[in-house]
Amino acid sequence: MDKDRELSKLKNSILKFNKNFPGKNLVFSDGNKDANVMIIGEAPGRTEDKLQKPFVGRAGKLLDSLLESIRLDRSKVYITNVVNYRPDKNRKPTLEEINEFKKLLFKHIEIINPKCILLLGATAATAILNHIGPLGEVRGKWENVKIINFYFDILTTFHPAFLLRKPAKKKLALNDFKKLNIKLNR
Ligand code: URA
Repeated sequence: MDKDRELSKLKNSILKFNKNFPGKNLVFSDGNKDANVMIIGEAPGRTEDKLQKPFVGRAGKLLDSLLESIRLDRSKVYITNVVNYRPDKNRKPTLEEINEFKKLLFKHIEIINPKCILLLGATAATAILNHIGPLGEVRGKWENVKIINFYFDILTTFHPAFLLRKPAKKKLALNDFKKLNIKLNR
């Protein structure tokens, strides 16, 4: 598969999904398309919309430091979000939006075809695991989930924006990143 070609086709289809997000930029992805791990967040914030790259604001800095704890950086991971446009006033994406973008996200996963997937927070867990409810029910556990035609190993952890508000939870997040590291080095 020509990944660059498929990714550019996907990007073009996502450009048509901007009706709920007037005046917002497409924030498609960052990192290495051939990475072993694909990281999925919620939706871009103000800084991401401006720079058209995911996780470049305060939450992104924290994500970088969590990655650094297992000697990873953006050259070794691929990062995207469930929703590729910034929702107004940083509201959470609605279930309807999640379901709409989910088809595009599944296609995105199929193209990248990572060894494993790291979900950041509840929106990503809803989109990929169909999980509604407390994040604690799925956080820190590996799941094997079918996306389109293939099964992927998927781990859920806290969203870094949540960790900025609840720094005491960082220890658990660091532990989740260790689990990810073990899987990647297997
Ligand atoms: N929060 C997200 O979920 N994604 C980003 O890209 C930035 C902040």
